[in-house]
Amino acid sequence: MTDVDYGARLDRARKELERLDADVLVVSLGSDLPYLTGYRAMPLERLTMAVVPREGEPLLIVPELEAPRVRVRSGVFAIRAWAETEDPIEIVVSRIGTSRMVLIGDQTWAVFLLRLQEKLPDTRFRSARELSAALRVVKDPAEIDLLRRAGVIADGVAARLATHRFTGETELQVSQMVGEMVKAGGNESADFAIVGSGPNGASPHHDPGDRRIDSGDPIVIDFGGRYHGYSSDTTRMFHVGKPSRRYLEVHAVVLDAQQAAVDAVRPGVSAESVDAAARRVISEAGYGDYFVHRTGHGIGMDTHEDPYIVAGNTQLLEPGMVFSIEPGIYLPGEFGVRIEDIVVCTGDGAERLNNSPREVVIVD
Ligand code: ZN
Ligand code: ZN
Ligand code: ZN
Repeated sequence: MTDVDYGARLDRARKELERLDADVLVVSLGSDLPYLTGYRAMPLERLTMAVVPREGEPLLIVPELEAPRVRVRSGVFAIRAWAETEDPIEIVVSRIGTSRMVLIGDQTWAVFLLRLQEKLPDTRFRSARELSAALRVVKDPAEIDLLRRAGVIADGVAARLATHRFTGETELQVSQMVGEMVKAGGNESADFAIVGSGPNGASPHHDPGDRRIDSGDPIVIDFGGRYHGYSSDTTRMFHVGKPSRRYLEVHAVVLDAQQAAVDAVRPGVSAESVDAAARRVISEAGYGDYFVHRTGHGIGMDTHEDPYIVAGNTQLLEPGMVFSIEPGIYLPGEFGVRIEDIVVCTGDGAERLNNSPREVVIVD
């Protein structure tokens, strides 16, 4: 998007380097690179690396064959393209120079870090995770707008699924169809489409397979894509024909738990207290042992990022944090229920970015 202020992001990165008493930030694969430079590298073996010193010119080092894709989006970074016969590590080393402390992105290939450590024995390397989270955990209004639009596309897919005839199709066929819908809705990519039918729904991240969907099956559908670099992620429950009383009871508990967690969101409360709000409802209904995962995860350029909505995370919510709320109950051999929305923490509560119906959708 044109309105991203990369200069401001660079300034914040430098302030974080100062706060963390480090001299240089080095990022490679993953989302820190596009966040800072506007360029997302393909996860290949050739080195792509941004080197951001606390003072001095930031440099984006890229393979020469990728350079034509980079220049227009480079913004505030100088570009150094390396030829196939060069050793790009030497370029990084000359930039890091005599720095004593380097923060390095978690998604840098180990082989690059090992070579840097070998060449710079007096330099300490630490994970850039804290810096990265500090930069990216609170979204700016332009980012929230993209996440909101990603949510609208996801809701459109949920609406199309509500009129689909599932009987006789395999989970894999449905998953491929969901992926196509995710792209047709305007996303640049479909990232995942979990389809768990019948007892397979009791596995939260079930790999869609050749099980044929039949009358009486509940279906968990959890999908996401990327819109202008920002992720969507929502889960809705479908049921072929009339659900059993037991299924409806479990669904109602999950729906209550999801609402309780959404209601718990406001600035100044801890991430873990949002998890506790969902867990309390499910435990009081007697299903505590069957809610086997955290309540949610942050979302932005990555589908999973800070803040994690999980017991033990005492991080306080702030306006502009965006995360999923997705409690579930998984009954082995029977079925699973999960309801997932993305929410933004606002000044006084939560705004949901997914608004398709959360009730079980009866389908053919
Ligand atoms: Zn998940
Ligand atoms: Zn999901
Ligand atoms: Zn999720």
